[in-house]
Amino acid sequence: MGEFDLIDRFFKRKASAAPAGRAQGAIEEVVLGIGDDCALLQPAGGQQMAISTDLMVEGRHFLPGAEPHALGHKALAVNLSDLAAMGAEPLAFTLALSLPLERAADSTWLDAFSDGMLALAGMHRCALVGGDTTGGPLTVCITVFGQVPAGQALRRSGARPGDDLWVSGTLGDARIVLGALRGEWSLPARVLAAARERLDRPTPRVALGLALRGIASGCIDLSDGLSGDLGHVLAASGVAAWLDADALPSLIDPGLTAGPDVRAWTRETRIATVLTGGDDYELLFTAPPGRRADVETAARRAQTRVTRIGAIEPGAGLWLQSASGVREPVRATSFDHFASQGAA
Ligand code: ADP
Ligand code: MG
Repeated sequence: MGEFDLIDRFFKRKASAAPAGRAQGAIEEVVLGIGDDCALLQPAGGQQMAISTDLMVEGRHFLPGAEPHALGHKALAVNLSDLAAMGAEPLAFTLALSLPLERAADSTWLDAFSDGMLALAGMHRCALVGGDTTGGPLTVCITVFGQVPAGQALRRSGARPGDDLWVSGTLGDARIVLGALRGEWSLPARVLAAARERLDRPTPRVALGLALRGIASGCIDLSDGLSGDLGHVLAASGVAAWLDADALPSLIDPGLTAGPDVRAWTRETRIATVLTGGDDYELLFTAPPGRRADVETAARRAQTRVTRIGAIEPGAGLWLQSASGVREPVRATSFDHFASQGAA
C-alpha cells in the first residue's frame, strides 16, 4: 500500500465518514478539509483561535507495542485536554504520522488506530482536516485548533491570592499502574483495571473547560504531575499556594488500603502519586471563594467531579498542609525530558 492509498483509506475516507466529518457542514468553521495543500478554517465572528501541538514518541510517551485503538484515542485526548484547559471549543485537528514499514503494512493496526482517534474526534465534533505521513520510528504528532470568544480564554496567569484551588477527576491514576508494573506496590485487580483505563484512555475535560469560562480565574491541564503543573500556574501568576493533604482525590480511597491483596500502599504513597504522577489530563483551576456555587454548577453541567484541594496565597512557594495544620514545603518538580541523563 502506497502513501496516498494509506492516507485515503485510513484517514481521508474515514474522517469524512466519522461523526465529526459528517457534521462538517454543521462545523461551519471548517471550510476545507483533507485533500488540498492546506485546510481552511474560518473562526466565527469575535472568536480567537486556540492552537496546540503534542508529539508522542514510541518508547518515550507510550510503551512499545501499545494497543493501537487506545493509542489513537490518547494522542487526540492529550491535545483536546489542552483546548479544555483554555476553555476553548474544539474545531479541527491535523495528524502528522511517522510509521515503521511493518505498521504501514498492517491494516488491522491502522484501522484500530484511526478508529480510536476518530471515535473521540466524533464525540467532540473535531474534524481531521489534514496531516502528513512518512516512514520512520512510530511518532504521532497532532495539532488541534479550537475557538474561544476573544478575551475569555482561561490562562495560567490568572490565579489571585485568596482564590480556591480546584481539580477535576482523580489524580495519580496512571502512576498507580506504572508502580504496579514496576513492583513498587500491589493493589486489587479491579482497582488496577480502572487505573489502567485512565492511563490508556484519558478523558479530556472539554465540557468542564467550556463551563468554567467566566468563572475560573486561572487554569492548566495536568500532564506532568500536580506539583510541577501547579508550579507553572504559581510562576505565571506570581503567587504561592497550599494543598490540603487529605483532600487530594485519588482513585484509591483510604479505606481500601486494609485489603489482603494490598502491599506497600500507604497514605504517603497516595500523596506522592497524586502530587507527582503524570498523565492525569485533569483540569487544575482557581476561582474566587465567592464563585464556589458557580463552580459546582459548572461541574454538574459538565458531569465532571471537582474537588477543592487548597488555596492561593500571596508570595512564592507551595505547601502541603495536614489536618493538624502542620505545613511542609513541596518541591514543584515537573517531568523534564532533558533533565535526566540519556535524554534525547
Ligand atoms: P503535501 O505534499 O501537500 O504535503 P500530502 O501528499 O502529504 O500533501 O497529503 C495530501 C493530503 O492528505 C493533504 O491534504 C494532507 O493534509 C492530507 N494528509 C496527509 N497525511 C494525513 C494524515 N495522516 N491524516 C490526515 N490527512 C493527511
Ligand atoms: Mg506531505
